[in-house]
Amino acid sequence: MQTPDWVARGQPHIWQPYAQMKTATPPLPVVRSHGSRLELADGRQLIDGVASWWTACHGYNHPHIAQAVRAQLDAMPHVMFGGLTHEPALTLARRLAALLGPGLDRVFYTDSGSVAVEVAMKMAVQFWLNQGERGRSRFLAFRGGYHGDTFGTMAVCDPDEGMHSLFRGMLAEHDIVDLPRDDAAMARLDAFLETRGPQLAGILVEPLVQGAGGMLLHDPEVLRRLRRLADRHGLLLIFDEIFTGFGRTGTLFAFEQAGIRPDIITLSKSLSGFGLPMSLVLMKPELDVWKPGAHSGTFRGNNLAFVTATQALETYWTNTAFTAEIQRKERVVRDWLENLVHSYPNAGLSVRGRGLIQGLVSNATPALSNRIAANAFKRGVVIETSGAHDEVLKLLPALTIEEELLSKGLEVIEASVADALAEEGQSARILKFGGKRQ
Ligand code: PMP
Repeated sequence: MQTPDWVARGQPHIWQPYAQMKTATPPLPVVRSHGSRLELADGRQLIDGVASWWTACHGYNHPHIAQAVRAQLDAMPHVMFGGLTHEPALTLARRLAALLGPGLDRVFYTDSGSVAVEVAMKMAVQFWLNQGERGRSRFLAFRGGYHGDTFGTMAVCDPDEGMHSLFRGMLAEHDIVDLPRDDAAMARLDAFLETRGPQLAGILVEPLVQGAGGMLLHDPEVLRRLRRLADRHGLLLIFDEIFTGFGRTGTLFAFEQAGIRPDIITLSKSLSGFGLPMSLVLMKPELDVWKPGAHSGTFRGNNLAFVTATQALETYWTNTAFTAEIQRKERVVRDWLENLVHSYPNAGLSVRGRGLIQGLVSNATPALSNRIAANAFKRGVVIETSGAHDEVLKLLPALTIEEELLSKGLEVIEASVADALAEEGQSARILKFGGKRQ
């Protein structure tokens, strides 16, 4: 492939995420996106199994959303939020309040996931300060969790996970513990909170799926336990639904599956449905307790982002048939992956996931996942790995991906698994039945 001139001239000046400038594998130049496809500079078409870190949940260049952006672009792309307000901000706030219901009906707009989590934490601390309680600056958060890359949020991520350990001595101290997966763990946490509770502002968790930590799942019962603990010890319960929110887990929000509600929720990623940077915090009105200067942000309140979210909400999230469609696609992906695992019984593979967050886990040979992803890339499908050893091959396509493209993508993954096993020298030991969906 002839590398475009703009790559050769610009790439030496760019820092790719989570990579060193010099050693990073050169990224592929993309020139166009549409639906669940990406077009490379050399004309190759890729099927996107990641939806740009699941921001393009309704597919790229969604026509209705694009139309709303164009109209807003002509009228007023962005004006500062300080002292001014505008219809797109208020319409979205009103619609979100109706969607989330009482107790989560006050919105604070932010511009990235990490900042939304920081704002939620600041808000919780400030709530207690307003009650005259000065000692509550810690949070209870969980091993395996991920909440962002800023200094405030790194401190509530899993402390042993590789990405942030470099900054360990510089981070605020919180209590990072195991999720209470059974009654005994719940009792231990309860006892811990008897003494630690008065120093805590709240409990922070990614509900149902700890995403970036390696797609680690827990049962809705764990969330019910956390709700009970928060109530018993008078703590605020914060759900970080930046990864799980807007249909990913098969329901509009993950917390619905537990039949409980948080006091504060953070949302981003799929919120815009169009890839515009935006995030927000929703809470009950009693928690909206800012003192001047507590938090602002130059780009909070971007009109283009607001209209994308409102349009996505009107097109998809008021329509219950859409969640049924997501659940149907979940079964397609799940069945396919399970058949694939059965086809290679000696390969140490398993399936893990919820909703349209599905992963093929390579327990025996973690390196296999990166090989599969690399082979899939060559065959035209974009997928990523995650987990402590990159052992999870993540499948998070657009929620609206067409059935045909989905099947095509899964066929490519199946072929890429076969290639990767052959490269690992495992083919001779493997009993292959053919991994097609039955
Ligand atoms: N919280 C969760 C649960 C996330 O998955 C992420 C991003 N992966 C963040 C926070 C941080 O979001 P951002 O990258 O937009 O800062």
